[in-house]
Amino acid sequence: MNKLFANDSTMMEVIPLKTSEKDLSDKPAYERRFHVMAKPGGSKCNIDCQYCFYLHKEGLLHQPKQPQMDDETLERFIQSYIQSQDGDEVVFSWQGGEPTLLGIDYYRKIVALQKKYQPDGVTIQNDLQTNGILLNDEWCEFLKQNNFLVGLSIDGPAELHDKYRVTRSGKPTFHLVMKAVECLKKHGVPFNALTVVNRHNAKYLLEVYRFLTQELGATYVQFTPIVEPSNFKTTAPQFWSDSMLPKLGEELSKPGHPMSVVTDWSVDPDDWGHFLSVIFEEWVNNDLGRVLVNLFETAVAQTMGKPSQLCVTAEFCGKGLAIEHDGAVYSCDHYVYPEYQVGNVKDTELNKLVFSTCQEAFGMSKRESLPQYCKSCDHLNLCWGECPKNRLIRTPDGEVGLNYLCSGIKQFFDYSKPMLAGIAVLLQQNKINQ
Ligand code: SF4
Ligand code: SF4
Repeated sequence: MNKLFANDSTMMEVIPLKTSEKDLSDKPAYERRFHVMAKPGGSKCNIDCQYCFYLHKEGLLHQPKQPQMDDETLERFIQSYIQSQDGDEVVFSWQGGEPTLLGIDYYRKIVALQKKYQPDGVTIQNDLQTNGILLNDEWCEFLKQNNFLVGLSIDGPAELHDKYRVTRSGKPTFHLVMKAVECLKKHGVPFNALTVVNRHNAKYLLEVYRFLTQELGATYVQFTPIVEPSNFKTTAPQFWSDSMLPKLGEELSKPGHPMSVVTDWSVDPDDWGHFLSVIFEEWVNNDLGRVLVNLFETAVAQTMGKPSQLCVTAEFCGKGLAIEHDGAVYSCDHYVYPEYQVGNVKDTELNKLVFSTCQEAFGMSKRESLPQYCKSCDHLNLCWGECPKNRLIRTPDGEVGLNYLCSGIKQFFDYSKPMLAGIAVLLQQNKINQ
């Protein structure tokens, strides 16, 4: 893997789960690696983003007012997470809700527990995904001292960021995030921009991209399209009523209609395709070798015949789970619904939950449930039907399981494929600065 396209700590080559010891015994160690998004403070947050996919878990999972993973469960999770993997690096990701609400001392405890169970020769890395509001000198000193990588949520310049990312009383938060950026820079804490692409900021693509890479100075940008089924607060993915799913191109398969299959703030699939295409061109012309964009990076890697580095564009999934404050483990961060709970770390080792037949089936179903329309698509090996949670529409001939973003994804790969192939050749010839 070229350094330019080396794994970020939040990424991992995505290969299928194998459940039996026999299958595991002759595989490279990294096949026993997996990732768990930890939510020790549950869904509790100090702001109220309109599009948040997680705030409603408080009601859905009957969380207490002040959810917090207790000491015993925390230790059990940390020990089991480290001991269930046998690579030379273990990556912890702390998220929520807003993980900084638990306070610095909680994270001091985490670091101490990690040291207690850290095997010789194994590196432990921590990521903190935050809205930045609580970050101050004390936090940044701690993050720097303990080599945390920060994922900072920011959706573009003020007028775009503040469209949805507001306080509970509806006040803007952009200025608070920029204070956090200053503080992170002052203390030399590395940070990535985590940018949600919604129906609004998708239309201001270059403003978003140039703000992140020029004004903010981010050299790693992770774009995530917002796709939320209109009933996402109550209905788990794949438990939708098939008869309600519109066909590709129908009015209800886009945001903005009162009966749309998605929320009003979900990105329009065609805007998503346009967003990616225009930013890809800008990236190729100005930032190749300087700025890492998650979706472009993995598209290049896949074009070079390497495994996807992102679950969403991989053939299989299932190796990115989530743990809630009460120790409950779910198949994926986007599948935190009772139907997808695989167990609880309080009574079962994590490796038994991750390398279980039910989790393996979850991961394999990403490929096995693809509609024929995807199986015969020219872009299948770059897309793999994208994330199953977004498979909200039907194909033109009525088969269920097509991705809501399909038209945009096609648009992007139709446009970028020749350039992706060109970049792959340049990388193979070492003609791009790394
Ligand atoms: S369900 Fe989606 S987000 Fe979850 S692991 Fe699979 S592809 Fe990734
Ligand atoms: S671009 Fe559309 S048809 Fe092709 S694999 Fe992706 S979701 Fe399926």
